[in-house]
Amino acid sequence: MNTRKLHDGKKDKNATEAEQGDQPNSNSGAESKLESKPSGRSRQKNSRRRSNRKPTKEAWDVSQFDVPALDGKLRFHDLNLRDELMHAIYDLEYQYCSPIQAKILPHTLKGLDAIGKAQTGTGKTAAYLITIIEDLLRHPIEEERYHGDPRALIIAPTRELVMQIAEDAKALCKYANLHVVALFGGMEYHKQHKQMQSQFVDIVVATPGRLIDFMTRKDLYLDVVEALVLDEADRMLDMGFMPQVKRIVRALPTTEFRQTQLFSATFTQDILNLASRWTHDPVSIEIEPEQVATDTIQQIVYMVSNEEKFKVLLNLFRQPEVTRVIIFTNRRDQTQTLYDKIRKAGFNAGLLSGEISQQKRTRTLADFKSGKISILIATDVVGRGIHIADISHIINYNLPDEPDDYVHRIGRTGRAGATGIAITLACEFESFQIPAIEKLLGHKLKCVLPPEELLK
Ligand code: AMP
Repeated sequence: MNTRKLHDGKKDKNATEAEQGDQPNSNSGAESKLESKPSGRSRQKNSRRRSNRKPTKEAWDVSQFDVPALDGKLRFHDLNLRDELMHAIYDLEYQYCSPIQAKILPHTLKGLDAIGKAQTGTGKTAAYLITIIEDLLRHPIEEERYHGDPRALIIAPTRELVMQIAEDAKALCKYANLHVVALFGGMEYHKQHKQMQSQFVDIVVATPGRLIDFMTRKDLYLDVVEALVLDEADRMLDMGFMPQVKRIVRALPTTEFRQTQLFSATFTQDILNLASRWTHDPVSIEIEPEQVATDTIQQIVYMVSNEEKFKVLLNLFRQPEVTRVIIFTNRRDQTQTLYDKIRKAGFNAGLLSGEISQQKRTRTLADFKSGKISILIATDVVGRGIHIADISHIINYNLPDEPDDYVHRIGRTGRAGATGIAITLACEFESFQIPAIEKLLGHKLKCVLPPEELLK
């Protein structure tokens, strides 16, 4: 439970960073104006109270969101999230937490600060948004509040990123009755201002420059912000935004009175210094970027019929360049069936799935590493943990249900600068999944018929 809440009566509304003297250089004229309390005129009070607002709830029950428990994966169900949020997650078709979500959410949902080393594509946006939305839902504002007083602030370096984050936030707030506003340059000020004034604003996503415009014009106040996110902090530093960001942080309640999450693709000394000033006893999470879908991996999709798949697979094994290969299927039972068929066809192979004991898995991996076996059949969950150099080929015997899994699978090859080949056998039942994968990769996949020699 987050104890640092405005409405629990513990928070001193006036205790901004600057007033607490937590930050240096906090005495410029412009800044003291920003931090001054609002005049009644510029800060419209609205007599409506949050509790009067009816949540837009559809008849939906979390039992409709059926995700089986899986070894090594955290489900959103395991996090005790409110139904409004679960419903939105269900609509987004997320099933299991991504690695950063699994690592960070159990802490941030308790109200702890966090610093995360993670890049785009890891699911970090949903990680911090879920934390914020769950907290705002758990602690509705019962007292009077003002327009232009966001409860959560997310700062990001570019307008594109702000728009993307705001879109994600709106999707996750679909049933939460929380108002998200995006503030960024290049769009007319008054339009964004209108959005701010049309109703209470709960979550503001902003670029530093435009946010400062709003603060300077006294159209926005940050002294009741309960949650702060600094996204892509290293880019903000590189782009020269730090003076503005510092100014923004000075207008916020002090670290003890807000939850702060800071994300950066790198943890340079500068970033760590800022993190130590702006967070309070944070958990620190690092997600190493997957070296995937890079130039070092050649990706081919063979369009085959379901009947042809196994023949093509065996013929691939016979190619001299296929020296060490991992084959992925989508389910444990498919993995087992394929393993049995491959063994029956006379190839020595290993099986890695959640059903196999850890001891046996370790032995199989050791045999694969040493070259005793050169074919491994794996499920996604277990396959992700394989970090072995010189895997010549990845074969997707089935197209994965989740595009992310495709990226993780092919990332088993082409590691550490080596080149690798990822071959996908896409049959008539699965080809429809290719566009989603292409979207994630940001480029088209080469889809061809297999060469004659593979069909013999
Ligand atoms: P991000 O790293 O925040 O840019 O997220 C990358 C993509 O992953 C976005 O398209 C998200 O919608 C998606 N995403 C985030 N969390 C999950 C999840 N748990 N399962 C599936 N997709 C996710």
